[in-house]
Amino acid sequence: MTTHAPAALRPEIDLDVCKGHGRCYMTAPDVFDCDDDGYPVVLGSATTSAAIREVERAAANCPEKAITLHPDVR
Ligand code: SF4
Repeated sequence: MTTHAPAALRPEIDLDVCKGHGRCYMTAPDVFDCDDDGYPVVLGSATTSAAIREVERAAANCPEKAITLHPDVR
């Protein structure tokens, strides 16, 4: 029997449109942190099922649509 690992997702934030209100790092703390000014920092790709759910929710709920999710193929 084969088990399928969830596809990892690599988030990218467009800081030209991000307003820094912080929904993303509150929604997906495994994937995003914030800098000293309250703007998000990508910690890395989402690789677990829980982190993938979080980052998908963060991207869907970003009011500025500043988060793009890319398949993380290695
Ligand atoms: S939710 Fe969107 S606009 Fe708000 S800080 Fe995160 S990336 Fe920026």
